[in-house]
Amino acid sequence: MAQPSILLVEDDRMLSEAVASALRQDAWHVDAAYDARSAQIALVDHAYAALLLDLGLPGGSGIDVLHALRGRYDATPALVITARDQLRDRIHGLDAGADDYIVKPFQIDELLARLRAVLRRSTGRVAPVLHYGNISVDPARRVVTRAGKPVRLSVHEYRTLLALMERQGRVVARAHLEDVIYGDLAPQRAMGDQQSHQLQQEQRQPSAALRDPARDRSTR
Ligand code: CA
Repeated sequence: MAQPSILLVEDDRMLSEAVASALRQDAWHVDAAYDARSAQIALVDHAYAALLLDLGLPGGSGIDVLHALRGRYDATPALVITARDQLRDRIHGLDAGADDYIVKPFQIDELLARLRAVLRRSTGRVAPVLHYGNISVDPARRVVTRAGKPVRLSVHEYRTLLALMERQGRVVARAHLEDVIYGDLAPQRAMGDQQSHQLQQEQRQPSAALRDPARDRSTR
């Protein structure tokens, strides 16, 4: 879906730069976020191969970032970085959906090894492939196929499709879809400019939306 890359969320700039540089040497593309909100926005806008997440962040906790991520069924592997060597934080992190954690201070080599382990485990993760007609969605590999051929989707399209496939035969409320797609950012981002413009047009011309196509043809 996107170029394989890692989101590094760490507000200590020196540590962030050291980790990012090691990851780049390891041939990863790295996006760095320095607070909880920009991490959330990055995770909504991109599909990352993995997330490296510090827990103590300006503007919110890494735990909140994890909750939002897992709340929209995003299985991006997450390795939590914590300065707080406390059992409670680790349990919170794992409960919130972290795949593993590493305690500061750590050796960069250890972080890279744990990241590789998390990625290996995630590719072996058992997640059922979903089918509807000739469409298949493999959540573990984030691969969508139609009649056996791969389909390229944007991140938002993929999340919408996955949410609908998981609830086949049931009514899916718009609010639920917004939650799945946008998480906590739903109120601001729920409606793109274009959709919003289309809706405004329809509200201005209610008859246009309800027009009978047969009558349209007859008046042409
Ligand atoms: Ca921190």
